[in-house]
Parts: sequence; C-alpha cells; structure tokens
Amino acid sequence: MASGSPDASAVDVAIIGAGFCGSMVAVNLLRKAKEHVDVALIERSGSFARGLAYGTTDRSHLLNVPAAKMGAFPDDHEHFYRWACENPEELKRQGVNAVEPHSFLPRVVYGKYLVSLLDQVSGARGSLRRIAGEAIDVAPQANGRFRVKLRNAPSLIAQHVVLALGNFPPGDPKLRDQRFHRVDRYLENPWSEETRMKLAEPGDVLILGSGLTGLDLLLSLAPLKSQGTVHVLSRRGLFPRPHRVVKPFPPFLDPESLPRTARQACRLVRVQVEQAGPRGIDWRAVIDSIRPYSQQIWKQWSTEERRRFLRHLKAFWEPHRHRAAPEVLELKSQLEKAGRLHCHKGRIFSISPEKDVLSVEFRDSNAHKDRVLRVNYVVNCTGPECNYHKLTDPLVVQLFSRGIIVPDPLFLGLDVGLGGTILNLQGERVTHLHTLGSPQKGILFETTAVPELRGQAAELAGRILYQLEHRRNSHALDQSEHTAVAFQI
Ligand SMILES: Cc1cc2nc3c(=O)[nH]c(=O)nc-3n(C[C@H](O)[C@H](O)[C@H](O)COP(=O)(O)OP(=O)(O)OC[C@H]3O[C@@H](n4cnc5c(N)ncnc54)[C@H](O)[C@@H]3O)c2cc1C
Repeated sequence: MASGSPDASAVDVAIIGAGFCGSMVAVNLLRKAKEHVDVALIERSGSFARGLAYGTTDRSHLLNVPAAKMGAFPDDHEHFYRWACENPEELKRQGVNAVEPHSFLPRVVYGKYLVSLLDQVSGARGSLRRIAGEAIDVAPQANGRFRVKLRNAPSLIAQHVVLALGNFPPGDPKLRDQRFHRVDRYLENPWSEETRMKLAEPGDVLILGSGLTGLDLLLSLAPLKSQGTVHVLSRRGLFPRPHRVVKPFPPFLDPESLPRTARQACRLVRVQVEQAGPRGIDWRAVIDSIRPYSQQIWKQWSTEERRRFLRHLKAFWEPHRHRAAPEVLELKSQLEKAGRLHCHKGRIFSISPEKDVLSVEFRDSNAHKDRVLRVNYVVNCTGPECNYHKLTDPLVVQLFSRGIIVPDPLFLGLDVGLGGTILNLQGERVTHLHTLGSPQKGILFETTAVPELRGQAAELAGRILYQLEHRRNSHALDQSEHTAVAFQI
C-alpha cells in the first residue's frame, strides 16, 4: 500500500492519459495484481477509456479492424466480438442490427466496450482513482518516486508513472508564408468539436491528407454538405485500401533471415504478391502475414535504413497495411460520382486568406500544372504530429526542460528502451517511468493499433506489478532482518 504525505496523495502507479493504452494498463494492473495496488488514472478530457479514437460521437466513424480482431486482451482477440454479441442493445443504439466476426463496427461502440472494462475492474484487487485533470509535470524525487503535478489540483506522489499520452493533433504544413496558421478558416485539429461545427456551415472545404483521418472527416461531412464541394489534396493521392475477407497466406518470412534492407523487403513482398495472385490469394493476405515480424524487421534495420524506408516506401506501405472498412470507401466513390468530392494529387505551395475564403495554390501532379482552389475552410488531416520537439503540450515541454525525455533519432516518437522505459537526455533509463503506444514508433514502427497496443499494455502492467511486489518483498525482508538483529542484541 502506498504511503501518504501531507500535501500529496501517494499511489503505486500514476497513469497519465486514459485512452486505450492508459486505461488498459490500469485494467491489467487491477486484474493481475496479487496484492493491493493503488492506481491513479489521470485524464484531461474528463472522459475515461475512450481516448481520441473511440471518443467520437459520430456513428459513421467505423473501426478499421474487424470486430473479431479488436479484443482488448492479447490472449483473447475475440473478447470484443463476444461483448458486442452479448450487448445487442448497445449496437442497436448505434444503428447496428447484427454483428459478424468481420463487421466493422462504429468506434462509439468500441468506446462503450472500453468503458465497461474499466468499470468492471474498479475496486477489484486494489483501488482505481480516476482524476479528471491535466498532468503538467513529472518530477523525480530523491527517494526514487515521482511527483506528478496536476493543473488546479493537488500533486500525486507515485512509485511508477506511465506516460500514455497518445496522439497529438497534426503538425502544420511547412509553407514559405506561414500566416495562414493564424486564420480561423484554417482548422488545425481535425478531431475537435469546433472543427465539426465550422464544417457544418455551407461552402467548399479542402481536406489536406488522404489517410484514415481524412476519410473520417469525409464520412462526417457527407450528410452535412448537401451543398458545396469537398476537395481532398494529398502528395501521392493514395487512400487506404479497402479491407476484404481473404484466405490466409502461409508465412513466407524466415525469422532467422529477415530482410536486412528496405529494398530487400520491398522486393520480397512484390515477389510474394506476384506468386500469390495466380494461386487465388489476395495481396492483403501477403501484407497481413508480415505483421508478426514487422517490429523485428524494423528493430534490426539501422537508422539510415529506417530513414530510407520512411522516405521511399512508407507512403505506399501505409495505405496497404492500414486499410479501411469497405463501406467507407464505397461512400467515397459515391460522393465522387455525384460530383460532391474531388480528389487531387499534388504539392501545396501556399494558403492565403482572401475575402471570405482561403485561396490554396498547389501543383496538380496528374494535370502537370499549377492550380488554385478557393474554399471556406482548410482542415489539416495529415496525421498526428510525431516530432515531440514541435509539440507545445505543457507536460511534454516540461519533461523536455527537465531532460527526462528526448525524441528518437528519426523524430517518430520518444527515445525509449525495450519495454517502453523512458531514456533521458544522457541516454540513461529513467527507472519506473514508462510509456507505450505511439511514443515507441521510433523503435517499433508498428505500434499504433489495438492488435499491438493490447500486448504492450498487458506486458507493462505485468512488469510494474512484478517490480512493486519484488520491492515490497525485499522491504519486508529488510524489516524482518532488522527485527532479527534487534533480538540478537
Ligand atoms: C481517429 C483514429 C481512429 C483510429 N481507429 C482505430 C481502429 O479502428 N482500430 C485500431 O486498432 N486503432 C485505431 N486507431 C489507433 C489508435 O491510436 C489506437 O487504437 C489507440 O486508441 C491509441 O490509444 P492511446 O491511449 O495511445 O491514445 P489516445 O486515444 O490519444 O489517448 C491519450 C489520452 O491521453 C490524454 N492526455 C494526454 N496528455 C495528457 C495530460 N498531460 N494529462 C492528462 N491526460 C492527458 C488525452 O486526453 C487522451 O485521452 C485510431 C486512431 C485515430 C487517431
């Protein structure tokens, strides 16, 4: 049991961020603990468990992974599917009448599932304190603990701290004239309620980026925009490919001799896809069969090789690997056919405010000419900002100033050791300060979706419990030795 102090509550584990990662660390801690554990779960949005992805209220936003693969526990992939089957009223409320293992359910439903998991463990083998507030500092103390400072609330003293900060809003496009940043027709956060409200106004809209977030926005806009055109502009004009139920492809990678370069990996996949086709096997199955090895492949590449992959292959890998529900892409093509959606491939030059509109100049790579679009709003959907140096988040800024965190060499996340232990400015492990999920992108690359995150959450919880129990036992041993010595005297 954690010991108290006059101005701060003491806990065994303070988890900052209650999205999927933070909440599932809490759930696993409380489910697996053999002894009492005090856990504080800190969330600034006030909404626990859902996080950014599953906190949407728009039921047209679908999961991009089939129901039977979205279980929140690594040893039970169908857990969510079973929960969905057992809770038909939740599904009906979101307009879903039936669920199949391959269904792409609304993300709101998944949010409900996560909330139910968190509710079930409250008070299990320990205490779970939900704190609706923002953590703004984590300061190491002389006794090896951390003081977690909260905005407008008393600090906590924690034995272990988990940074489960998740995804940050996209970084602004780098253009010569940056004044558009200050114009309120430029919407930098695609996920905010303010953005949703502004986009409901009549007029044309430009979505920058054609990834999963861009598609999400398209789904939200479709019923809102009976008038006005939606434009999507992206460098390569590639959208996530649709999921399809496919026959599995036998694993073709040998764990002993994984591709050593990005070029080798690319060639290998091409050859396998070519060979799979005539055997009636879809390319998706080939891509999926790589998934168990992708982190291993990434880890054995040098920084230069990883950089080469990011420069030349990532843009092609992502839409094939992170696919979308078929119904989402069906809607996209309907909108295109109806002339309500125009997709452009090209590089943007400038975004300039004019009277009542934004004027966007870009090079159209298909037409090989420069073009100008005049739209009411530009929404940035270019993907979460990964470069922590560019973030203005108060906690991140504070951790940088303490030298506790540093970005990884490729600026994909944070510098972390295996298992998510934070490495400081000197490259040393910050004992008992952990992270999981997207900050680990630099060392794992594939670390953003539930199939990866559920394993990380369970492992991290197991490690923390082991360390807490080990510490208690050695503490108890010290105490009994102390007593024995006292008796001898
Ligand atoms: C729009 C979208 C859709 C997605 N869809 C899918 C999908 O269908 N399937 C799939 O497998 N993956 C999907 N993903 C991937 C998704 O990132 C993961 O599934 C998972 O939700 C990530 O959870 P997280 O806890 O790491 O991050 P987040 O969900 O971003 O949660 C982080 C939380 O930390 C809080 N926080 C941050 N800083 C502080 C602070 N200082 N103090 C207090 N609280 C703080 C934030 O408010 C937030 O609630 C999607 C991602 C996005 C962005």
